[in-house]
Amino acid sequence: MLGVMERQQGFFDAAWCAGLLPDGSVYSLLAEHGERIVRDEDFAECYSAYHGRPSIPPSLLAKILLLAFREGLSDQRAMDAVRFDLRWKVALDLPIDHPGFHPTSLVHFRARLLLHGKERLVFERSLELAGELGLISGPVEQILDSTPMLGAAAVQDTVTLVRAAVRKLIDAVKASDPRAARGLRRELRFDYARPRVKPEGDWEDKDSRTALLIEVARDAARALQAVEGDDTLIAHERVGEAASLLREIVGQEFEVDDQDVPRARGTRRSRQILSAHDPEMRHARKTPARPFTGYKLHAAVAADVPIVTAISVSPGNEHDGQHAGALVDQQPKHRRPRRVIGDTAYGNVEAREQLEQRSVAVLAPVHSTSPKDGTLPKDAFQIDLDNDTVTCPEGKTTPIYKTSRHHPNLTGERVARFARTDCEPCPLRPRCAPGGQRDIRIRRREDLRQAALRALSDPADREHLNRTRPRIERLLGLIVYRYHARNSRYLGARKSTLQAVWTATLVNLHPIGAALRAQTA
Ligand code: SF4
Repeated sequence: MLGVMERQQGFFDAAWCAGLLPDGSVYSLLAEHGERIVRDEDFAECYSAYHGRPSIPPSLLAKILLLAFREGLSDQRAMDAVRFDLRWKVALDLPIDHPGFHPTSLVHFRARLLLHGKERLVFERSLELAGELGLISGPVEQILDSTPMLGAAAVQDTVTLVRAAVRKLIDAVKASDPRAARGLRRELRFDYARPRVKPEGDWEDKDSRTALLIEVARDAARALQAVEGDDTLIAHERVGEAASLLREIVGQEFEVDDQDVPRARGTRRSRQILSAHDPEMRHARKTPARPFTGYKLHAAVAADVPIVTAISVSPGNEHDGQHAGALVDQQPKHRRPRRVIGDTAYGNVEAREQLEQRSVAVLAPVHSTSPKDGTLPKDAFQIDLDNDTVTCPEGKTTPIYKTSRHHPNLTGERVARFARTDCEPCPLRPRCAPGGQRDIRIRRREDLRQAALRALSDPADREHLNRTRPRIERLLGLIVYRYHARNSRYLGARKSTLQAVWTATLVNLHPIGAALRAQTA
């Protein structure tokens, strides 16, 4: 049942010490305006209306969680701070002798938010409050970008990965049918009590290692066979999920040869699943020189005020542009931007197409088509899509060939080919058509690319892009460095999203705090 904060001030309330807090600190902000930032009634859907004892007020747990994310504290350390740190007591409006709560209160609170799909509640409230304070109104221009969020799980080798997945399957079976779990264990050759410990054998010797790997794969196959052969068991959601994860991992790590013997694939094939405990994290690269393992944190921020308007987390190997549409969709219709600004990742046709479907314009650099060998780039040619022609720098014009009806090009690509008779005598030929004649490829949705190039040729737009886009870097820096979201604290994309969303709320509290203080000054 929903518990609510008592507002009566007692003799031992830490609020008497509020004067000790530095002006402008998050503690004084929560102490003075906490009830505007997080409210118990917003969490009502997460609690039963009539049954059970009154809960710890969710606004209190939300403030503790915000402070824990702010200071990078574990649940245990956060509760220690509630018990011993006077600043926390003032911020939380607690009496000086308040003993704090058990650390698992925060675990249950987060689980409750995730279970009810309310992990974004405090973030949404911060945006509402920003609207009430006039910081954002209507569809403001927004900037998009992403930053790595390192996964919390360790990357597992083949043996540990497969064994951990078998153990997950055994645990899932045990949760739905303990007897079946005992039967399953008896059918397996290896013990899975400690999956990180490799089965006994000579792992240094190549032949022996190969034989052991085959046995590991066969044992996993036995586990799958036993579970998938039982219709009642496999029908359980958790068992089904664990079985499909194990099947995926076995398929990823082993291939079957002609004699039906499983062979480890080796390291050349890029591995997708890196940990059975966090199957969503991925190896990825932010730039060719910056590899990382984990997730990508995608954010949209208002261009003229430091407010994060949307945030999401995806596996690290997903392209930034893929998430542009989702960042817009996350926002209520009245707040969706009319134009977004981004880097080259948001300038590709796929991202532009996603945003076009949502009536959102894009101001982002277009990936350069300049060939490395110094050949004249495609952008040196004038492409007229209304008349389906291309004009070269020497003023020669050629039609764009339509896709053949008999050999349709599935990518939608077309080509404009300049005649040899034009190119051969041309003084630009060595730089333009060393092969004798020049082809210009017209890709699907070339119109979007041409519109982008036109926008970028406007000096005012280009200047706006160069001046405005870097503003998101500062806010992403706050999220990942000051509020510790560079490292995910939890396993899985959903819980990592919770962390990202709550740290973004902390970023939003900077301008909100300043506006609230200005209002009461
Ligand atoms: S080489 Fe051909 S396509 Fe290139 S500038 Fe000369 S005439 Fe035009």
